[in-house]
Amino acid sequence: MAHPTAPPPYYLEQTNEVALYTAAYAARLPVMLKGPTGCGKSRFVEYMAWKLGRPLITVACNEDMTASDLLGRYLLEAGGTRWLDGPLTTAVRSGAICYLDEIVEARQDTTVVIHPLCDHRRQLPLDKRGELIHAHPDFQLVISYNPGYQSLMKDLKQSTKQRFVGFDFDYPQPELEATVLMAETGVQASMAAKLVQLAGSARRLKGHGLAEGLSTRLLVYAATLIQGGVSPRDACVMALVRPISDDADMIATLTHAIDAVL
Ligand code: ADP
Repeated sequence: MAHPTAPPPYYLEQTNEVALYTAAYAARLPVMLKGPTGCGKSRFVEYMAWKLGRPLITVACNEDMTASDLLGRYLLEAGGTRWLDGPLTTAVRSGAICYLDEIVEARQDTTVVIHPLCDHRRQLPLDKRGELIHAHPDFQLVISYNPGYQSLMKDLKQSTKQRFVGFDFDYPQPELEATVLMAETGVQASMAAKLVQLAGSARRLKGHGLAEGLSTRLLVYAATLIQGGVSPRDACVMALVRPISDDADMIATLTHAIDAVL
C-alpha cells in the first residue's frame, strides 16, 4: 500500500480513461482491464487509487491460488486458532480498491468467490467463519487479464465477465510511449524515439514467430540500462531480445533490427 505522503504514481493518459474510470468508481462498478502484459494496466490502477484517495491492495493471481488465499484462514497458535483476513477481505472491510492481477490464472472455484461482491449485493460470505460481510461503501474490485493468453481452458466464465465494465489497454501510441520512456528514465528524446521504433518492428512480428508484442515495461528496462551507462546495443539485446524469444532465427531478426535502428 502506498504511503500517504508518497509522490503520485506517474501515469500518462492515453485517451479519456481517467474520466471513465472516475465515473465507474463513482458508481462503484467493478472494472476489468484488458490488454497485453506490460502496457500500463497496473500503473493506471495505482494512479487512479492515488487520485481517488483510496488504498490499493494488489493480488497477483496464480493457478495454485485458493479461495482462502483471497478470503483468509484460521492460523494455529499456541493458545488456539486465530482468523487472519486475506487481502480481498481486508479490502472489502476497509474500503480499499482490490486489484486482482491476471485473474484468469486463478482456478474457477477461486474466481466465483468474487461473484456476490460484483453485483448489487456487494457482499462477501466467509463460510469458514459463518460471517457475511457487507462491503465498505468505498470498496471497489478491479481485475486485469490478457486476452492474448486466452484459451478454452483459460478464460473467464461469462457469468464472471458480465459483472464488470471493461477498459481495453494497448501499448501507448508512439509519441506517448516515447514520453513515458523519457519521464520514467530520463532518456533523451532521440533515443526514446529509436526504442519506440524498435518496439514497432518487434510488435509487427507478433503472430509471425512472436507470441506477444514487446512490452512498454521492457522498453523502460532498455532505457534504464542505457541511462545507467550500458551501450544501447547491449541494453537492447538484454531487454528487448533475450526475454521475448529463445528461437535463434527470431533473435537474429531482432538483433538485425536493433543494428539498423541504432
Ligand atoms: P501491466 O499492463 O502488465 O500491468 P504496467 O502497468 O506494470 O503493465 O506497465 C509497465 C510499465 O510501463 C510501467 O512500470 C511504466 O513504466 C510503463 N507505462 C506503460 N504505460 C504507461 C503510461 N500510460 N503512463 C506511465 N507509465 C506507463
